[in-house]
Amino acid sequence: NTNTDFLLAIEDLTVSFDGFKAVDSFNLYIDKGELRVIIGPNGAGKTTVLDMICGKTKSTQGSIKFKNKELTKLREHKIVRAGVGRKFQTPSIYENLTVFENLEISYPWGRTVIGSLMFKRDQKVLDSIHKVAEQIYLIDDLDKQAEFLSHGQKQWLEIGMLLVQKPELILLDEPVAGMSVKEREATAALLNEIVRDRAVIIIEHDMDFVAQIAKKVTVLHMGKIIAEGTMDQVQNNEKVKEVYLGH
Ligand code: ADP
Repeated sequence: NTNTDFLLAIEDLTVSFDGFKAVDSFNLYIDKGELRVIIGPNGAGKTTVLDMICGKTKSTQGSIKFKNKELTKLREHKIVRAGVGRKFQTPSIYENLTVFENLEISYPWGRTVIGSLMFKRDQKVLDSIHKVAEQIYLIDDLDKQAEFLSHGQKQWLEIGMLLVQKPELILLDEPVAGMSVKEREATAALLNEIVRDRAVIIIEHDMDFVAQIAKKVTVLHMGKIIAEGTMDQVQNNEKVKEVYLGH
């Protein structure tokens, strides 16, 4: 496996804010089908890594190759079009629209004015919206106004809004924050399903949830990777123990 075979290959990714290296020589290689979790204490640089992948923050140094395309110089909307979807911690759904409408406006054709004018509710579009609605457990709530969904359902809807765009890489920031135990289990099942067609990177603090979903975990501390491996491996890593229990 050369590095160009990976869906996503990040090398030496670094960003400085006024001389302070928030992320320092970060490397990550993932393939389709992999769900990677990034953990680490507050301020470790986790959010900044996702921000750099989706173009919200520009790196100072290093490269991000996605399907062999260099992303570091691209604007955010170009990165979305290249197939990278990002969900932030707070849901950004349209509360006054229905579940169906939220999914519909996220459909790729709706992205340009001309696209939305020409937008036809043809069967193909309807089918793909229904498929996503089933995946996110909202098939019986298509006509419900989004503001009446539970907190967990809103999070799923936002994942659904990404899925209709068929991204090949999905970035999620604490997807189960505030969810009930049942909703967490359902989210784990959802993630295990959607990762089959793509790669997923998650920032997560809930270690029980990490143990449920992750095969491989990357641990960040002060901008640097201090451990990488299975949950068991990183939990038994001396540096990791020090960071989490040490001070
Ligand atoms: P995490 O997500 O792991 O909690 P962050 O990526 O949010 O950590 O932050 C990493 C470090 O970078 C923190 O010290 C934070 O204050 C700093 N930082 C993040 N973004 C900026 C920015 N735009 N300007 C200056 N400092 C920043």
